Amino acid sequence: MNAAVDERIDADFETSLDDLFELLAQPSISATDEGVAECTALVENACREYGFDDVKTVETPGQPSVIAHARAEDPDAVPTVLLYGHYDVQPVEADLWETPPFEPTIREGPDGTDRIYARGAGDNKGQWFSHLCAVRALREAGSLPVNVTLLVEGEEESSSPNLEWVVETHAHELAADLTYAADGPIDPSGRPHVLMGARGMLYVQIDAEGPNRDLHSGNFGGPVPNPAWELVRLLGSMKDENGRIAIDGFYDDVRGITDRDREVLADIPFDAAAMRSDLGIDGFADGPGESPLEKLLYYPTLNVPGFGSGYTGEGSKTIIPSTASVKIDMRLVADQDPDDILTRFRDHVERHASGTVDLDVISHGSMTPQRTSLDSPVIAPILDAVGETWDNDPILKPSLGGSLPTYVFENHLGTPCVVVPYANADEDNHSPNENLAVERFRTGIHTTAHVLTNLERSL
Ligand SMILES: [Zn+2]
Repeated sequence: MNAAVDERIDADFETSLDDLFELLAQPSISATDEGVAECTALVENACREYGFDDVKTVETPGQPSVIAHARAEDPDAVPTVLLYGHYDVQPVEADLWETPPFEPTIREGPDGTDRIYARGAGDNKGQWFSHLCAVRALREAGSLPVNVTLLVEGEEESSSPNLEWVVETHAHELAADLTYAADGPIDPSGRPHVLMGARGMLYVQIDAEGPNRDLHSGNFGGPVPNPAWELVRLLGSMKDENGRIAIDGFYDDVRGITDRDREVLADIPFDAAAMRSDLGIDGFADGPGESPLEKLLYYPTLNVPGFGSGYTGEGSKTIIPSTASVKIDMRLVADQDPDDILTRFRDHVERHASGTVDLDVISHGSMTPQRTSLDSPVIAPILDAVGETWDNDPILKPSLGGSLPTYVFENHLGTPCVVVPYANADEDNHSPNENLAVERFRTGIHTTAHVLTNLERSL
């Protein structure tokens, strides 16, 4: 890595901090619209000031996005990297903050290091703004090693309902060889993460309706069907005795695990005994996957987050309830398609229904899973850049257990996607007193500069 770039970043750091503070002082709450228009104007300005060539705000059916380009001297000779982030922030409960959420303040964190306290410091303004600082430093110290396109959306904290629309509609302008995002916290051990994907999700609910009113269980019990039993029986039919999901074809599109996957899994620090004792559980659930991590990162789930029926108050009440309802979330993995899984789920319910109670399957939304192959040529240069910048071995994670909209970039732009979190592990995003360690912001800028430099020769 070019020492001149690192020197430039450090020399400009105070200005970078001032400019970040300006962004953090601007509320931009997508849930309520507060300050969103003003914030997009600030993002546009920052892009221009930091050397992006053409910058525009793109209207969507919801909150706008900002798209900007910074081209290398010979744009056709080098790859293009799409940097994705979001300017919107979570709502705040101002009275729970030690200093006001939109008055960025540097004070000492729990570990004695300086932190920037402000809503959006870690999630996500301080992370994508480090990309702008890196682009400026690379230019000032020489030249931009790759073409950079920046996409900063305004609805991530509201589940990115229009991200797919933006990327599809502007696919030509957003065309790239790689999508890279800095989001989330590093490992509590201090090691950085390099994340290659995320599980998807399908959320459904089954409503069961039996008799038209709650009934005396003695006067009616026996012949009259109970909707709670109907749902229990249906749930029972959805997993076999080994914990495998028994919906026909559920695993058909689950991508196989390679030797390379198992190698990477073996390198992820994971203490099964500590987790069991922390959670107070006697053992792990069964089902496919040779280890808890393999189950968590490579296999889909069918989870019951809620079940309701009848009387659950004090003492007894002898009734056949009129209705029952169950919610089910399924975490999906590459290459499952949520629409296909929903069809299979509905078919299963229909096939196993007793026909004595009315059943209604409602879908509450879905997200497609995405996982960049561990054979992708982008991994080595990014791992090298992150490891050198942090002077600490990154933890390569094939997937998050949770869900992120990275499939949008793979599906509509055909790019691999890599997420590298820059924030401290205790950033308290979404909570009162959200913060970003000042040194994590600085390391973030160096990381982006280093990653872009390494990618010039590797894509
Ligand atoms: Zn967030």
